[in-house]
Amino acid sequence: MGLQAFVSRRLVTSEGVRSGAVLAEDDQIRAVVAPASIPSNCAVEDFGNAALLPGLVDSHVHINEPGRTEWEGFRTATRAAAAGGYTMLVDMPLNCVPATTNVSALTAKRTAARDQCWVDWASWGGVVQGNQSEIAALATAGVLGFKCFLVHPGIEEFTMVRESDLRAALPLVAQTGLPLLVHAELPGPVNAATERLRNADWSRYSTYLESRPDEAELQAIRMMLSLCREYGFRLHIVHLATAKALEDLKAARKEGLPVTVETCPHYLHLEAEKVGDGETQCKCAPPIRGHKNRELLWQGLREGMIDFVVTDHSPCPPAMKRFGAANFLDAWGGIASLSMALAVMWTEASQRGFTLPDVARWMSEKPAQLAGCEARKGRLAEGCDADMVVFDPEAEFTVTEARLHHRHPISPYLGQKLRGVVKRTYLRGKLVFQDGTFFGEPLGREFRQ
Ligand SMILES: [Zn+2]
Repeated sequence: MGLQAFVSRRLVTSEGVRSGAVLAEDDQIRAVVAPASIPSNCAVEDFGNAALLPGLVDSHVHINEPGRTEWEGFRTATRAAAAGGYTMLVDMPLNCVPATTNVSALTAKRTAARDQCWVDWASWGGVVQGNQSEIAALATAGVLGFKCFLVHPGIEEFTMVRESDLRAALPLVAQTGLPLLVHAELPGPVNAATERLRNADWSRYSTYLESRPDEAELQAIRMMLSLCREYGFRLHIVHLATAKALEDLKAARKEGLPVTVETCPHYLHLEAEKVGDGETQCKCAPPIRGHKNRELLWQGLREGMIDFVVTDHSPCPPAMKRFGAANFLDAWGGIASLSMALAVMWTEASQRGFTLPDVARWMSEKPAQLAGCEARKGRLAEGCDADMVVFDPEAEFTVTEARLHHRHPISPYLGQKLRGVVKRTYLRGKLVFQDGTFFGEPLGREFRQ
């Protein structure tokens, strides 16, 4: 393919918003130029007043294939991603079977992904009890980093790690230079609260919220910061839900510890006071906390204590949400939001005075840095892949099942009116999604360094 110019009056780069064009050839961005500098010999797509953002990067997705394809899968997750403006996903090492805790499981994942992906993808590897000997091999085989749980993850094939397990694994993780992503809740406070609430009414959201106290996150984060100081590995806290940990994280950064933090759209949009009893579509762990906490998370994002925002897309079949029983204890914890995350974020961010470059930094540039793919992903800049999303920030819409695109149309956002519509998504220069329709073949491939 020859040189193409993608023109917008609102081009979103790290430097800000301006009128200009992305010049792309083959897979790559050759230059970002002012309108007057568009060469006369190239094909032009003019998006007018619609914004042009870098394709979003989601470093926290549960694709669940192979092994739990009835929950989600490469085809459905990557379609939802393309519809949501994402062009790169990094898959968590669970809830697929086998879990991605050794090289043969990674090979099985690659086989499962073949010819199914609408966007690019890569894998995190798992750190579980007893798999220290796999860590170096997984890094060599191409995982972008590692993930562990400090609390039971809700499935049996992926074991949580205790401090002793971490002490065995951390020197090896540090040697790879790759980040360790940590689900930071300690079982002590969770188990004690759950036991205390054994006879409580589990159809009530307040019971579930009480069963996963802030203290579980806070203690876990303190333990991880201390281990980070000791072993010097790159620590990343996934889905921060409590604002109470922000002070500790601020101090850790000031001290120079290599720690980064993410949160998710649901923690920044939903609030415990408005989750109705039985609404298990809002169950996730750590839980959605109260209004005041939500505002403090926004403050953390504003101050840069929270680095970025990812979906933690984690779907399941409808039966597992236990809607009939309305049981928060047994229901699967996970929210799927690949197709809606940008609109959810923009709805909230634009009301708080944030701009499109802020959103692009949180949802594209920074997650790409965590995954180590920032030389090719996460920015509209020369040398990057021509991954782009055309976004109408003024348009509003109501969330319907038809707009979700992941396997099972369950979402806490159904029926909500959101601001900002993904008009088109381009993967490496090729149109893959436009106005509700997918184009061409699934051209997504694994990102390799
Ligand atoms: Zn997750």
